[in-house]
Amino acid sequence: MKSLVLNHKMNFNYDEVNEYIKNINDVKSNKINLVICPSFIYLSFFKYNNYYLGSQNVGMMEKGALTGEISALQLKKIGVRYCIVGHSERRMLLNETNEMINKKINHLLDNNIIPILCVGETLEEKKASLTFDIIKEEIDRAFSNISNIDNIIIAYEPIWAIGTGMVPTNNDIFITIKEIKDYINGKYSTKLKVLYGGSVNSENINVLEDINNVDGYLVGGASLDFKQVKSMITAMEAKYDS
Ligand code: PEP
Repeated sequence: MKSLVLNHKMNFNYDEVNEYIKNINDVKSNKINLVICPSFIYLSFFKYNNYYLGSQNVGMMEKGALTGEISALQLKKIGVRYCIVGHSERRMLLNETNEMINKKINHLLDNNIIPILCVGETLEEKKASLTFDIIKEEIDRAFSNISNIDNIIIAYEPIWAIGTGMVPTNNDIFITIKEIKDYINGKYSTKLKVLYGGSVNSENINVLEDINNVDGYLVGGASLDFKQVKSMITAMEAKYDS
């Protein structure tokens, strides 16, 4: 089953999130795996009877004196099942390193939360044909010393496509996802799901659905618009039925 992961980032005020919840609680799909990642402060507002709850981040340590951080155990106890790690915004704007990401993945797996590891290249790296070298390094360093990687999901998110309206061609997405899957299969002897993320919306999802090795999408901007969320679910369900 494909996943649709909605990353609200740092959006929605109290009234807006309550309005969104009213709408989303009516959505039912037994054909896609819907994951909603609101801001931390709203996580417990979501009832998640027809979708899973995801976090946008997790702290690096198990517990203790770390003001402002939230642990994997705390997330687990309020029903969080997935957690985005290594989003490019955190890597670039908050100096999140591969070592920090590795620690976060460890804690998440210890608490049975599925990490959604974001990987992807900048435009300069793409132009220099470095896409796969970058991704390989991000994967290897994130997976370092982790025994149960089977429970990780990868999100291929070209940094230049995030929030820009630019989307790679279907063929480029297919090739990169194939490279990621083949690499992980070869080096780690396991098959992981790979999502695509970067300017996915209700207009382009039908075209993206033609790529036959994508296991779903990580959506930022369009996830805030409930009408778009509904259309994206409909498009994915139609493909599932076909
Ligand atoms: C993201 O932030 O992970 C993302 C894919 O954003 P957008 O859909 O807005 O490009």
